[in-house]
Amino acid sequence: MGIAREAVRAEVSALRDESRDQRGAFLPSHQRVAPSPHDPSSPTPHSLTPAPIRYLELDVTEDCVLRCTYCFRRNKQPHRMSWETAKAAVDWFMEASGDQKRISIYFFGGEPLMCFDLIKQVVPYAEREAAKRGKRVHCGATTNAVLVDEEVIKFWREHGMSFNTSIDGTPECHDRFRRFPDGRGSYTYVERGVRQVLAYRPQTTARCTLHPENAHRALESVLNLVKVGYENIPLIAIDDCPWTEEQYAAYREQLAKLSDLFIAR
Ligand code: SF4
Repeated sequence: MGIAREAVRAEVSALRDESRDQRGAFLPSHQRVAPSPHDPSSPTPHSLTPAPIRYLELDVTEDCVLRCTYCFRRNKQPHRMSWETAKAAVDWFMEASGDQKRISIYFFGGEPLMCFDLIKQVVPYAEREAAKRGKRVHCGATTNAVLVDEEVIKFWREHGMSFNTSIDGTPECHDRFRRFPDGRGSYTYVERGVRQVLAYRPQTTARCTLHPENAHRALESVLNLVKVGYENIPLIAIDDCPWTEEQYAAYREQLAKLSDLFIAR
């Protein structure tokens, strides 16, 4: 028998909006609007935000080098954000952040490193614009790490940027869902990328997505990520596909084992 997923999802969604609003870090979904550089009627920062914001997420592309079977981007288009749009969003953010002195910009996708050239333009521009206003901007990206190379690490290091990496535990758990378009598993490539990331920034987060079919391997997955070198491992259970009672019970059992293990440590 399935779990009442709609009810769970609604609760989680309400909590997310509430906590984002309290932190002032995100806008509620109906306000998550990027200004259009081509549209003079585009809302101004002050008509959108009741309070200064500190966080801007730029979804620079829907495209990705992977085709994870559970991907939230169902119909990937090869579109890329233009420099004009990114610049307009940064300009808007500088105003919308009001008197906030520490602000953040995060690049998201798809796979944002497919737009590395754009990132290389946006970050120095945002830093200059922030400095003019007496602010400091921190930039980062959520990535599957496949495209991480020495040039990426060098740029990240020069700008003190952070990563959030997506990796699903053991090679078997990961490759079951996180594959290239030709069906090959991506774990080997991802691990190569994350080792470079962790050498630069050991506190980087491993976003470990837990599919119900991998629920009974949550402990094993976390332990493998610890072995790879991660210290921060949020386990994200997928909530938009069916869970059986057995999978849910296995998940609870694995969480109990994980909590025992970390209490013991
Ligand atoms: S890495 Fe992320 S964006 Fe790319 S296919 Fe997987 S889930 Fe989707």
